[in-house]
Amino acid sequence: MSVFEAVPQAPPDAILGITEGFKACDNPNKLNLGVGAYRTEEGKPLVLRAVREAERRLLADPKQDHEYLNMGGLPDFCRLSAQLAFGEGSAVLKEGRNATIQGLSGTGSLRVGGEFLSRFYTRSKVVLIPTPTWANHRFIFEKCGLEVRQYRYFKQETRGLDYEGMVEDLKAAPEGATVILHACAHNPTGVDPTPEQWQGILDAVRSRSLLPFFDSAYQGFASGDLDRDGAAIRLFADAGLELLLAQSYAKNMGLYGERVGALSVVTSDAAAAKRVESQLKMVARHMYSNPPKHGAAIVAIILSDPELFAQWKVELKGMADRIISMRQQLFDALQQVGCPGDWSHILKQIGMFSYTGLTKAQVENMTNKWHVYMTMDGRISMAGLSGAKCGYLAEAIKDSVT
Ligand code: PMP
Repeated sequence: MSVFEAVPQAPPDAILGITEGFKACDNPNKLNLGVGAYRTEEGKPLVLRAVREAERRLLADPKQDHEYLNMGGLPDFCRLSAQLAFGEGSAVLKEGRNATIQGLSGTGSLRVGGEFLSRFYTRSKVVLIPTPTWANHRFIFEKCGLEVRQYRYFKQETRGLDYEGMVEDLKAAPEGATVILHACAHNPTGVDPTPEQWQGILDAVRSRSLLPFFDSAYQGFASGDLDRDGAAIRLFADAGLELLLAQSYAKNMGLYGERVGALSVVTSDAAAAKRVESQLKMVARHMYSNPPKHGAAIVAIILSDPELFAQWKVELKGMADRIISMRQQLFDALQQVGCPGDWSHILKQIGMFSYTGLTKAQVENMTNKWHVYMTMDGRISMAGLSGAKCGYLAEAIKDSVT
């Protein structure tokens, strides 16, 4: 008998379980809209040309070796990542008020940020996450020993932002609590605040001295414009607030499996940033010692070479535009098949996902009868869809809602 006899089987992961079901399905019409990864019109994974070129240069460089990175990662990568998020002229960067380290993609950066807060942030141990949010947020911060609470975000009736509810909840939060904000392309709803609403959120954050923790997993992937997608982060940083930021290059550079990301802590003065950086490195040291090199080197090459940077921006816009065009095509197809209901939220929502509003029973019908694989909350990945499949998907939705 194993000493691990009492270990129970973990429940299947909500998203990876869907992929399993999809793989096992032999219906020729099957469609996987569960996965949060970009696919081409032909349904294939995409390696960006800018990434291929950066990799080619890395391989050709005789100075490249496999030595360890520092605990904080590749310095150029950290500097360029902060610049990408905060903007070139950012006062935070000029004044040296950021501590930025390389993290294991978005997830690892959030985890190190949470661990740092758990060890050193004494004002409040409460972390507020939106309802709904990316499922891993709760687990990440709970595992850091923090107390996770929720704030209102999505309004079912309008399938839009519950702005009043959100602001009310932030204003009622414990003084100094950390608040997780999706920088753009909120996952899973695809609903983002307007610039005016971001200002109102900033005021609410200030009124309770909350500590904003931005999760930026989709910069440039939402609108196709890096600056536009970074606007909320910059609004808060330029207003002089202290904050945390987790960046991921999984989606916007298609570096999913390379686990490339960054964590920044913005402080009110440069001396605090230095001390914070020393502790972020300690957190990394105790968890995984130091981050992997390859992906960060690719990102650093692209961000530092004007030609490759320009090429990346074109490719990024290409991905964002294909997703936006999928929204229009699906909306048109729903009209065409005469699907009852208002589907304009599909056009209005932003980023990789659309929160269709389908109920659990309707999703079950989509999967069991139509072989459309998607999460139970009604979320579909627009990036997994192609023009050729929109008609079929619209028929499936019509059948499921009627
Ligand atoms: N935050 C959000 C909101 C996400 O959607 C994701 C990716 N699904 C992540 C963080 C983390 O992704 P990764 O660790 O692959 O960068």
